[in-house]
Amino acid sequence: MHIDLHTHTNFSDGKLSPDELIQRAVSNGVEMLSITDHDTVAAYQQLNKENISIRLIPGIEFSTFWNKTGIHIIGLNVDLDSTALKEAVTYQHQARHVRAAAIAERLEKLGVKDALTGAQLIAGNDNIGRPHFAQHLFNIGAVTSINQAFEKFLDAKSGDIKKYWATLPRIISWIRDAGGIAVLAHPLKYKLTRTRLTTMLDDFIEAGGHGMEVISGRQLAQQTKDLAKLCQQKNLLASCGSDFHQPDQQWSDVGKYPPLPKDCKPVWEYF
Ligand code: AMP
Ligand code: MN
Ligand code: MN
Ligand code: MN
Repeated sequence: MHIDLHTHTNFSDGKLSPDELIQRAVSNGVEMLSITDHDTVAAYQQLNKENISIRLIPGIEFSTFWNKTGIHIIGLNVDLDSTALKEAVTYQHQARHVRAAAIAERLEKLGVKDALTGAQLIAGNDNIGRPHFAQHLFNIGAVTSINQAFEKFLDAKSGDIKKYWATLPRIISWIRDAGGIAVLAHPLKYKLTRTRLTTMLDDFIEAGGHGMEVISGRQLAQQTKDLAKLCQQKNLLASCGSDFHQPDQQWSDVGKYPPLPKDCKPVWEYF
């Protein structure tokens, strides 16, 4: 079965509308899909649920931090109408706004004026994030690529601001209270040493986290093997997703990656 439990729409920093994303998933043969926009579930409110020929698992990708590292936690199979989820989304929405103002202030000090207005115009959807600042920096010619915008102005070292996000235990509690399963997104993206990654997983598990992504988009077979082993060692459920944002991205198309290794315990068995 083709399953993709990590995708984005234009309600966060993706390019496709929810309906377009679902259409793409259907044509790629995906049978189970989760839309996991950054800190929002607005995509689900916009869907015409009756016409969906795919099993849709309500999801969200939360931004938080561990020590000084920004990390992402996916909430899968959450109850969209629960108080906990509504509280989480409201909190993170506010955090995103305060953070955007702080990012703009930092950019101002670096000589980039009024970046907030520019980024807000690009975001359009009230879910402002670093990709919108990156696009603005590119549009005004401050950088020659989106990647350079991240490297020079927005990445972990130069300008990501994490302190406003809800803490890891709080995020996991909200997911659990919403009836969902907390899954650590793309464990290799944080560039942690193996010791730090396992310590982080221990803290994640202690806080009530239950799963980790063993496949995140396009990755080497060796990385999949390595993550599957880590997942088993920590007795976690395994998830997989493309982290799809837009059709021309270099990562992976919706649902397009090899199946989970056989020895993994798939998270969807618990939906
Ligand atoms: P934010 O939610 O504001 O922290 O923005 C994080 C998002 O920025 C990620 O989910 C990616 O989609 C995007 N991103 C992070 N690093 C890069 C990069 N180097 N190039 C392009 N997009 C990036
Ligand atoms: Mn993103
Ligand atoms: Mn992410
Ligand atoms: Mn993502």
